[in-house]
Amino acid sequence: MDSERATCVSCGRAYPAGRQRCGCGEPLWLETDASEYDWPSDDTTGMWRFADLLPVDPPTGLGAGVGGTPLVRTERLDAYAGCRLSVKDETRNPTGSFKDRGSAVGVAAVAERGDQWVGTVSHGNMGMSVAAHAASVGLDCLVFVPEDIPAERHSLIAQYDPELVTVRGSYGRLYEATVDSPLPVEFVNSDSPLRVAGQKTVAFEILEGFAPDAPDAIALPVSSGGNASAVWKALREARTAGLIDDIPRLYLVQAAACDPVATAYRGGADSVTPVEAGDTIAYSIANADPPSGTRALAAVRDTDGAVVSVTDDEIRDAMSVLSSRAGLCVEAASATALAGVRALSASGEVRPDERVVLVATGTGFKEGTGRATDVVSSSIDVDSFESAVRDRIEGS
Ligand SMILES: *Cc1c(COP(=O)(O)O)cnc(C)c1O
Ligand SMILES: [Zn+2]
Repeated sequence: MDSERATCVSCGRAYPAGRQRCGCGEPLWLETDASEYDWPSDDTTGMWRFADLLPVDPPTGLGAGVGGTPLVRTERLDAYAGCRLSVKDETRNPTGSFKDRGSAVGVAAVAERGDQWVGTVSHGNMGMSVAAHAASVGLDCLVFVPEDIPAERHSLIAQYDPELVTVRGSYGRLYEATVDSPLPVEFVNSDSPLRVAGQKTVAFEILEGFAPDAPDAIALPVSSGGNASAVWKALREARTAGLIDDIPRLYLVQAAACDPVATAYRGGADSVTPVEAGDTIAYSIANADPPSGTRALAAVRDTDGAVVSVTDDEIRDAMSVLSSRAGLCVEAASATALAGVRALSASGEVRPDERVVLVATGTGFKEGTGRATDVVSSSIDVDSFESAVRDRIEGS
């Protein structure tokens, strides 16, 4: 489907597709007519199962294999989460995060137009993702990273051979400079309309997994608000199409050290304003001035959800519970969602019989930072192998 218009959910204005920002200052998204939409009857797998709701045709290259990630019922986490929990395992995408869904659409759009340059402003998953997708179809890619990026992350992006540029100065200003820029580069940043379109598919996969029912709530970590906007847009489209009757509540979770959206929510504000941020292990969601924060707040209010923030200790705890009780290795940013659900259950907002889906946004395999350090191990001589096994079985 070709979206011809980009619209502003805040003031209702419409523009030709291609524009990223409304005159009112809010981000735009691509209009989708979902009124006649129904669940696909074919057996296409992955995100392109929902191609009729996307602004580009299914691509070649890495993008062809994105999505279709497991939706796992994680009974072993129910007691901790305080509800009936499922995990949508986005770590299983080609570069280990949901960002691949947006990158796939952004890169496909550039390739479809016959253009050559794609770019992004990112210090982590998005830089890797856009660079990998561009590499796989032979597009040129520009990635701007902040000066203080850790060496491991720098090399994770660099392996895909983009033009990698380190930037001094305000990262927020850099982001603004890429929005609706006259440069011949498609910047597929965290809340660009093409990225938001692609990231809608995670919600369609969740809903189809529960159809004809729907989960009671979906929980995800929020930074720029781009992904929260994408999930909200998908839920609205699903409701328009008649695929769901009741819209699941959207719960957004932030790290307490950097929680502008939660601060606005708690204060009853209608828009998100920048906060003074401290350090957090959840660096992937540490945006103190989120460009789609206000839209994320609207998503929460529209779906009767909430925004909560959690401490780094709670995040660390949730991260080790995800690995030790569900076998899931996620990065700290993703574990915030579980810490958030636990807090929402403790406060009575989420009930024990409710079905909640947690979006595990990114893999923990990329780094060792913030992991539990109290590793339990013991050592034996090979001669005592059999007795060592027996000791442990009997001792357990
Ligand atoms: C980008 C990212 C987020 C936040 O998504 P936004 O769209 O910026 O709100 C959360 N978790 C991980 C792992 C990410 O890479
Ligand atoms: Zn507007």
